[in-house]
Amino acid sequence: MVKVRLATPVLQENNEVARENRERFRKHGIFVLNLMSSPGSGKTSTLERTIGHLAGRLRMGVIEGDIYTTKDAERIEAHGVPVVQINTAGSCHLDARMIRPALEDFDLDALDLLIVENVGNLVCPAEFDLGEDARAAVLSVTEGNDKPMKYPLVFRQSEAVLINKVDLLPYTDCDISQLEKDLKLINPELQLFRVSARLDEGFGPWIEWLQKKVQEKKRGEPQAG
Ligand code: MG
Ligand code: ZN
Repeated sequence: MVKVRLATPVLQENNEVARENRERFRKHGIFVLNLMSSPGSGKTSTLERTIGHLAGRLRMGVIEGDIYTTKDAERIEAHGVPVVQINTAGSCHLDARMIRPALEDFDLDALDLLIVENVGNLVCPAEFDLGEDARAAVLSVTEGNDKPMKYPLVFRQSEAVLINKVDLLPYTDCDISQLEKDLKLINPELQLFRVSARLDEGFGPWIEWLQKKVQEKKRGEPQAG
């Protein structure tokens, strides 16, 4: 019988560093969002629109997780937001130890909101606490209706889901009400936002939700999740 003892110590160590990161964010009053999705769902485009809507309202920073490239970070930088790229060098998720050194590159006192774009992957990013206050997922209507049921963990742990590419609905087999029902079945507390990052539509309620979260954090109110 082979005894395997890998997962627990790795996750335990991760959770300790995540706690340190979280304490640091608390001291600086920064609300931190871990944004997850599969590749191609439009995480970066959604983030770009979010930055556009929050410009002049909140001081934002971004951590970009990517396996090899800096393409997404360059897109974010073009919006004039401080961004730090983490190349995971092959790893398909971010962990708390990757976040810790990245924080040295920010002026944490100058931030209200830090969004971490995780590596495009619906599986293991959900297993690694980064020290964030909340998680959100981007799910596009072109991905098929079965994603929530196939990858429930990421949706169970998220507080919000941006259902992206709704402008493409007429060209897909996606039943969006069924998709939303499935998401609510997995997590009844989920806030759902229908958006089109391409057309910059539907972002109002999402921006309000984010601003509310940031204000709660500033006031030191306990964060759900
Ligand atoms: Mg991206
Ligand atoms: Zn992974």
